[in-house]
Amino acid sequence: METLHRKIARKLLNLESSDSYKEDFSVEGDAETAKRIRRFIKECPHKFVIGCVMDKQMEYTKAWKIPDSIEAHLGGFELEMLLDKEDKIRRLFKKENLHRHPTKAADEMMDALKRIKNVYDGDASRIWCLSQPAERIRRNFAGFKGVGQKISNMAVKILEQQPDMNLAGKDLIDISVDVHVRRVFGRTGLVEGSSSAPGYDQRIIDKAYELNPDYPAALDTPVWHVGRKYCRAKRPLCNACPLDSLCVKKGSGA
Ligand code: SF4
Repeated sequence: METLHRKIARKLLNLESSDSYKEDFSVEGDAETAKRIRRFIKECPHKFVIGCVMDKQMEYTKAWKIPDSIEAHLGGFELEMLLDKEDKIRRLFKKENLHRHPTKAADEMMDALKRIKNVYDGDASRIWCLSQPAERIRRNFAGFKGVGQKISNMAVKILEQQPDMNLAGKDLIDISVDVHVRRVFGRTGLVEGSSSAPGYDQRIIDKAYELNPDYPAALDTPVWHVGRKYCRAKRPLCNACPLDSLCVKKGSGA
């Protein structure tokens, strides 16, 4: 008999093909960001890397705008020019309030640009074009300052979803663990215990692997979507949530 956890996983994996999910993701910010990310990968790979590095501790749609915003201020986004304008970029982060943590974000951006120049000969696409399978690419991303479990797996998952990419080793792309994923895994009972307990994130990663071993990261976007749209930290919208009939915390006010 199918366990409750497997039913939850099946529901989540089927969610992406549902009309309501597509509708949710066609809202302006999400659709625009998806388009922007595709453009970065195709036309300016180091913008994609910088977008990944920026994508934390702030609304993701705003984080992904940062490379275009810097380009608009500087009149270009060529790698050498950016490296020459380090002081100006650092000032821009503060003056334009580009990121919630402007000093740290500027540090990480400059560090990423230097790494692209020194390790990848100035061509960020070498991070993924020369380094199959997926796990190798994930480790390449993890080599950038400020890029941890969440971002490195997210970057590989985004690349894997591009139409012309056919990455080997999808089974080794982990779910990207963030605040939404932690909340949904905890409230649905997929993992137990306090999210601040040691090893909690690893239990999420292991659970995703157990539930979808061929491609654990496939659970990532639907779980994140449920967390962001329904399973809010305060007053979760259980009655509208696609997991309502399966969730152990449903209706408890979580
Ligand atoms: S039913 Fe409620 S508590 Fe459970 S995942 Fe959905 S929003 Fe969260």
